[in-house]
Amino acid sequence: MSELPGIVVNGASGRMGQMLVRLVSENPACRLVGALERAGHDWIGRDIGTAMGGAELGVTVTDDALDAMSRAQAVIDFTAPAATVPLAEIAAQARAVHVIGTTGLDEDDIAKLDAAARHAVMVRAGNMSFGVNLLTKLTETVARALDVEFDIEIVEAHHKHKVDAPSGTALMLGEAAAEGRGVRLTDVADRGRDGITGAREEGHIGFSAIRGGDIVGEHDVIFAGPGERIILRHVATDRAIFARGAVKAALWGIGRKPGAYDMMDVLGL
Ligand code: NAP
Repeated sequence: MSELPGIVVNGASGRMGQMLVRLVSENPACRLVGALERAGHDWIGRDIGTAMGGAELGVTVTDDALDAMSRAQAVIDFTAPAATVPLAEIAAQARAVHVIGTTGLDEDDIAKLDAAARHAVMVRAGNMSFGVNLLTKLTETVARALDVEFDIEIVEAHHKHKVDAPSGTALMLGEAAAEGRGVRLTDVADRGRDGITGAREEGHIGFSAIRGGDIVGEHDVIFAGPGERIILRHVATDRAIFARGAVKAALWGIGRKPGAYDMMDVLGL
């Protein structure tokens, strides 16, 4: 019998990282073969299971990505751009699937990721949940059906620890709305208003961010027209939805042609 595919989790001590370690090690279709953390992290050298306060999992936390990747078919990475971009090169060298949930990547980061994706499978999405990917599809459809009389506003809410805004999901929804309208998001995005901003410009797509408490993630896409409003809403109550999507993406990507994919590809939407 062939061995189950090996998966490494990057940022294993993080909120998403710990959830991923649990899901990968409990999934009968794969094995956890590595837990990566940054150099100097307290957990380096410890068993990831016991470091998380549970049973031993037989995987030692390491900062040696090359070594961890040598045993893996895939790496799941919900960290920060400074960690994700260099890991993409290592994953590409190892011909391993790189599943990227990290948000806050800029154009330069994305260009580097695209270069790595020429050599291996990369699945990147600002949101890995089925519901949000369906919402993205719906957003594009509604934006295509309505004319510019309908102002598009995206409102998102997240927990107080989130460091980037607008959320990766909000941007993904904005991209979908822009696509539906046949415009480039960078030309029409209104990211944050304060003071005397002047009247809203027709055709713009606005973003607002709420931060507080332990909100897992909420997104409204508002189409505000004369005399009526359409609101598409997704509310996440458990971040396991993102982790489950990421594990699905890792297993989906193994054996596929190198390239940059997203969750729409994985989910067939
Ligand atoms: P978190 O709890 O702060 O965890 C981040 C992890 O990344 C930590 O283990 C952290 O290590 C590590 N890290 C950060 N900077 C690093 C660096 N320069 N080098 C190496 N490791 C580094 O955050 P989280 O809530 O799990 O979220 C992580 C990322 O996933 C964020 O970008 C978030 O927006 C994104 N996210 C995406 C989705 C999706 O579906 N796409 C869903 C949820 C979250 P230290 O503790 O040492 O800093």
